[in-house]
Amino acid sequence: MNQNNVDINEVEKFSSMASHWWDPEGDFKTLHQINPLRLNLVDKIVSLSGKDVLDIGCGGGILSEAMAVKGANVTGVDLGKELLDVADLHSLDSGVSVKYQHISVEELAEQKPNAFDCVTCMEMLEHVPDPVSIIEACAALVKPDGYVFLSTLNRNPKSYLLSIVGAEYVLGMLPKGTHDYASFIKPSELALWARQAGLELVDSRGIEYNPINKSFSMGSDISVNYICVFKKTG
Ligand code: SAH
Repeated sequence: MNQNNVDINEVEKFSSMASHWWDPEGDFKTLHQINPLRLNLVDKIVSLSGKDVLDIGCGGGILSEAMAVKGANVTGVDLGKELLDVADLHSLDSGVSVKYQHISVEELAEQKPNAFDCVTCMEMLEHVPDPVSIIEACAALVKPDGYVFLSTLNRNPKSYLLSIVGAEYVLGMLPKGTHDYASFIKPSELALWARQAGLELVDSRGIEYNPINKSFSMGSDISVNYICVFKKTG
């Protein structure tokens, strides 16, 4: 596994916005809006209460805390120190306990193989130089028969138009420069990399945006933003 698998500019981009992480109307508004949808999907599949869960690239902890509220024992990891400080402060404030760690996924995989019932890695793979190495680490960290949830952006003309031109430049839903089209990942690529790491695809869902009522829903259209659910085989 790749031990230097981080784009410092990407992590700094998120860290520079750390103080706005929990503002539901701020730079990360989209993450707040989609959070209930992805939380429900994870909870429906793994029944979070009492489960050991790892949230990779947790940022300020929006998903980590929500999973902890459902009763999971959550560990959140990220390489943005400021982001983890924001996550820790918010956890103190909300009283929702999450264990946050500043460690690379690859290093954690060496320390804790087969340790988690469920691993989530949301909206992060399109920001790392070597997503395959992250997927291999996810596969190593999850217990046999455990679940891995990966979400990212599909790569096609429609996703370019909607997630970069539309979301960043026309609607201003995301800060300009949030995403780089070349790093987007097709579901077929994600499924292949996962299969090679010992993860079997069990479900995939699209996160669709309705510009009329400005809301997100989960459906079958995986052409832009999508979540894949994998199970560790063997
Ligand atoms: N998963 C969170 C945050 C997504 S933003 C959510 O969906 O709510 C992307 C996050 O990935 C940022 O917090 C960034 O610091 C983190 N990140 C980027 N590269 C990383 C890496 N190599 N290892 C761990 N975290 C990384």
